[in-house]
Amino acid sequence: MNDGTKAWLRSSYKEYYYRGADGVEFPDQIEAREFGYIPFGGGMVRHLSFKSKGEALAEILKQSPSSVYCSNARYESPTRPIEEKGWLGAELIFDIDATDIPTACKRGHDLWYCEKCHASGKLPRPAKCTKCEGTSVEFHGTCETCLDAAKAHAMRVVAFLTEDFGVDRGAIRIYFSGNRGYHLHIFDKRFELLDQLARSEIAEYMRGSSLPLSQTIASTLRRRPPSGPQGAGWTRRITGYVDERRENYGGTLQKLVSEAVSTQRALVDTSVTTDIHRVFRLAGTLHGNTGMSKIRVESIEKFDPQEDPVVLSGKPVNVRVEFYPRFRMKHRDFGPFKPETVELPTYAAVSILSKGLGEVV
Ligand SMILES: [Zn+2]
Ligand SMILES: [Zn+2]
Repeated sequence: MNDGTKAWLRSSYKEYYYRGADGVEFPDQIEAREFGYIPFGGGMVRHLSFKSKGEALAEILKQSPSSVYCSNARYESPTRPIEEKGWLGAELIFDIDATDIPTACKRGHDLWYCEKCHASGKLPRPAKCTKCEGTSVEFHGTCETCLDAAKAHAMRVVAFLTEDFGVDRGAIRIYFSGNRGYHLHIFDKRFELLDQLARSEIAEYMRGSSLPLSQTIASTLRRRPPSGPQGAGWTRRITGYVDERRENYGGTLQKLVSEAVSTQRALVDTSVTTDIHRVFRLAGTLHGNTGMSKIRVESIEKFDPQEDPVVLSGKPVNVRVEFYPRFRMKHRDFGPFKPETVELPTYAAVSILSKGLGEVV
């Protein structure tokens, strides 16, 4: 990325923060949180602390960085090294990313490309570019199917929390991640002091990975007549699903059990939920790889991830694109691009430029 592109990206982000400072959402006890940011073209700056929203916003506006982060944990001394911070508790957080959900369409839109000659091809990624032996990297595309899958899994997290953990729906805040997933922040005091092991158990429970083998569950179910949902939690989910379909099902009972699990599990990223010292993208700030906002989702059913988080302007800019597959924003298709110079609205140009796949001309 050349200096001109860096400066252009930074000024586009600055314009948003100048206009949209109201959209930046801070957690409570701001003075106990650790903040961090990544400048355009630079490394992560962590262990920052602010006394107030005003102070934090002034710094965000001044830096207009590529990414802004804030801890879900509260600390006695947020600016000290991790082991000396004095951990006081952390909100429970779940991360759903379309990349982790096995959708069939991925074979069509996930690619590898060469950083040097911009050759590209289908996954699996070769160790080196097949044309020039340059470094090859993976490119994860996004489509409606993947975005819908991410949304469905986020809704499953809400179902687990409210039905199995007794969480009040009002205590769950859903955010679009700014890329292709969702972050769920749980403001329920019962979880705040949980350690990494307990958080990991909750995540694994939602993923259905702590369940007995489907073969074992099937043999238990085989011994009882279909009688509708029984018990609680996963038992209720599985018995309900299986008994409703058992009679007319063509496959084995074991297969039906697997289906009951795969259609109801939520593929949360366990490592994210478990890390109690992590910094997360601050709500209402822009994603460093897309220019879209980590926006609060009021109604997940109505939320449109290709429209609602697109907050940068449509001001046209000329961009020399090296390589970029087809993508969709604001109900408009862009690309695929081979090496060419095109005029794009700012919001679409940022997606390409922030990944280092083009330059402003
Ligand atoms: Zn190459
Ligand atoms: Zn897809």
